[in-house]
Amino acid sequence: MAELKLSETRDLTRVERIGAHSHIRGLGLDSVLEPLVESEGMVGQVKSRKAAGLILQMIREGKIAGRAILIAGQPGTGKTAIAMGIAKSLGLETPFTMIVGSEIFSLEMSKTEALTQAFRKAIGVRIKEETEVLEGEVVSISIDRPASGGAVKKTGKIIMKTTDMESHYDLGWKLIEALDKEKVQSGDVIVLDRPSGKITKLGRSSSRSRDFDVMGSKTKFVQCPEGELQKMKEVVHTVTLHEIDVINSRTQGFLALFTGDTGEIRSETREHTDTKVAEWREEGTAEIVPGVLFIDEVHMLDIECFSFLNRALENSMSPILVVATNRGMTKIRGTNQISAHGIPIDLLDRLLIITTQPYTDDDFRKIIELRCQEEDVEMKDEAKHLLSLIGCDTSLRYVIHLINPAALACLKRKGKVVEIDDIERVYRLFLDTKRSMQYLVEHQSQYMFSVPINKEEATA
Ligand code: ATP
Repeated sequence: MAELKLSETRDLTRVERIGAHSHIRGLGLDSVLEPLVESEGMVGQVKSRKAAGLILQMIREGKIAGRAILIAGQPGTGKTAIAMGIAKSLGLETPFTMIVGSEIFSLEMSKTEALTQAFRKAIGVRIKEETEVLEGEVVSISIDRPASGGAVKKTGKIIMKTTDMESHYDLGWKLIEALDKEKVQSGDVIVLDRPSGKITKLGRSSSRSRDFDVMGSKTKFVQCPEGELQKMKEVVHTVTLHEIDVINSRTQGFLALFTGDTGEIRSETREHTDTKVAEWREEGTAEIVPGVLFIDEVHMLDIECFSFLNRALENSMSPILVVATNRGMTKIRGTNQISAHGIPIDLLDRLLIITTQPYTDDDFRKIIELRCQEEDVEMKDEAKHLLSLIGCDTSLRYVIHLINPAALACLKRKGKVVEIDDIERVYRLFLDTKRSMQYLVEHQSQYMFSVPINKEEATA
């Protein structure tokens, strides 16, 4: 029994969770932001990826605030995948916050508070900290080349920290001592941390660097002003405005950052954060990094939220807002007004719109291939082909979801490679939306409170 339990635990630790977009590693663009047919887990959707690439450039430059982009298209055409691609390409230094429209309707906080927190999570503050350099540390320094008028970058070890008051005699002894103690290796660039940074006292040259012969090999000896060395040891942290708010908030405290349960944050706390950040910016110790706020299923927001977005986008610190929807002409939530994508016209007017197109058979096949690799499923080509045909008739999501059950069906018959039969088996077991609707129509009399509809309506 004990043995059984042990092996169960081992099996569980091996389970890795694979997300719907875990195969997406970027937008799949080349160095000039042109989309490659298949790269970084991205397939097809060339026009939309090209447009997203321009947005990426805009975000990286970080100069423009308050721009908003709408990714619109039919369900399962890769809108979220494109947003994830943007996030991955930006890297960890640029904040990327993702929420779903419906998430902001919570009992714990007001809609505008939830949106404010989402906005502030998408604004980064890059804080620079200067640290003291110590003897023995390796630093990178730039050495002037007076002859050519240029400078070269060298890496060197700090062997001494001295003052300008020390005579060249004292410095000479210190250097000999360092050589004696084998602190200096042949060929090293050694750095003397000296406030004035001048080497005149050690020889005729007025330059900051000289070559020494250490064990038959040239060793560069450089003096460096203290301030310059400290700049080289700059440590940079990026935090978000929301994180600073939470740390400053007396009611929540920084532990709330780990639990995520921050509750409402008082406006005075936010004002305090803004004043502090403005001071740091003035001192040159911090800069703002506008990130990205991605709101999926934006049609779930209501008219009050849309009005909030309009105003928030006018703030000079606003992040880039990316919203996505699969809705066509529909009611704006909280009103009886019909509008494109369920978004009010004044907000629509601010949006740069990217549309996604339905996939071709070839795209389906490539995406299935990628998902098989991601889910570690070996599948015969004919089975992949069948899946892509099913995908054309149903949806990309449906066929992606069939991959794993098919692999389990294969395992059950003790097979190693998924075959056509496995696909057929799971296709019969799990219905897609079209077949599910048909089933409902055929059996509607057996369901409770069913509104009668006919077959044509169900397939429309
Ligand atoms: P919805 O409107 O229903 O929210 P969507 O347009 O956001 O759908 P996604 O969720 O992005 O669609 O796509 C469905 C699945 O297909 C995801 O697993 C996604 O990663 C994958 N996918 C979609 N497009 C691509 C693509 N171009 N390349 C690779 N994988 C893709």
